[in-house]
Amino acid sequence: MPTCPDCDVSMEPVDHQTSYGGDGVRIETSGGVLGALDLKGTHLDAYLCPECNLVRFYAD
Ligand SMILES: [Zn+2]
Repeated sequence: MPTCPDCDVSMEPVDHQTSYGGDGVRIETSGGVLGALDLKGTHLDAYLCPECNLVRFYAD
């Protein structure tokens, strides 16, 4: 389980599915840093910090 870099507490998995089809958030390779990682279409897992509400995304 990821840990918040600011609060040093365990982050909780969150449901980040949208109304676009219920398939979750995916990385777009339209340029920038994410595009350079060549992770087009990779599913992302979201984790929420219960202390500061920071959300981090992790690619599968
Ligand atoms: Zn936090």
